[in-house]
Amino acid sequence: MWPLLAIVIVIVCGFFIAFRAKPTVPLSKEGRETLASRVGYFARLPSDAQARFVREAERFLADHHISGPRDAEVSDELKALVAASAVILMFGRKGFVYPRTRDIVVYDDAFNDEYNVGPSERFIGMVHGRGPILFSARALREAFERPRDGIHVGLHEFAHVIDFDAGAADGVPSMMPWRAVEPWLALMHSETRRIRRRRSVLGQYAATNEAEFFAVATEVFFEKPNELKRKHAELYAVLASVYGQQPADAPLAGE
Ligand SMILES: [Zn+2]
Repeated sequence: MWPLLAIVIVIVCGFFIAFRAKPTVPLSKEGRETLASRVGYFARLPSDAQARFVREAERFLADHHISGPRDAEVSDELKALVAASAVILMFGRKGFVYPRTRDIVVYDDAFNDEYNVGPSERFIGMVHGRGPILFSARALREAFERPRDGIHVGLHEFAHVIDFDAGAADGVPSMMPWRAVEPWLALMHSETRRIRRRRSVLGQYAATNEAEFFAVATEVFFEKPNELKRKHAELYAVLASVYGQQPADAPLAGE
């Protein structure tokens, strides 16, 4: 009797732990419609990959609290766009789970250091070292509406998030193999010199520091992959290995 009872308890606990280990929040009808109609990357995936994308988005939404300022409710459309940004970035690494649970705050528009909001304010996205991820809703929507302009605030900020995983954002995410770090630093620095001479496909903002270089290069990798591969094959190859994706040979994010 007792051994049987123990086995039953172990099975029930195991089931409970397995169930708790991967909690998900089902995407609402609006969320699913947003993926299908606004996220070109998702729309072009085969159906089995779409099912995995939805599961990963649901997992992301379970792990992250997304709200407006002062915990105001945000729409399922915006939640879906935030989750889609996170999932697109790491979709080539099956089962990847974002390293830290962070709150996400979506402002209506751009914002400044004091979190005043307006179309001409300075920031459209931000990741605090140990704090929340901030987005402008307008910039996030534009990121999916303009899939080839090389600007995608969602991909940019989540690139910072994976860069922060080793403690500091230094343009070298910890998933990069150790032997690749030194050549990558040399590549970043030589490309930064080209940016300053305006000879790079990357914009001037990438020359700010290594963290911004990595985030801007990520945006360009997903939104202008063919141009990046043609003009900066080495840079493209490093990002392809970090993200486990070949967007130059596949549908473009947001297209
Ligand atoms: Zn940045």
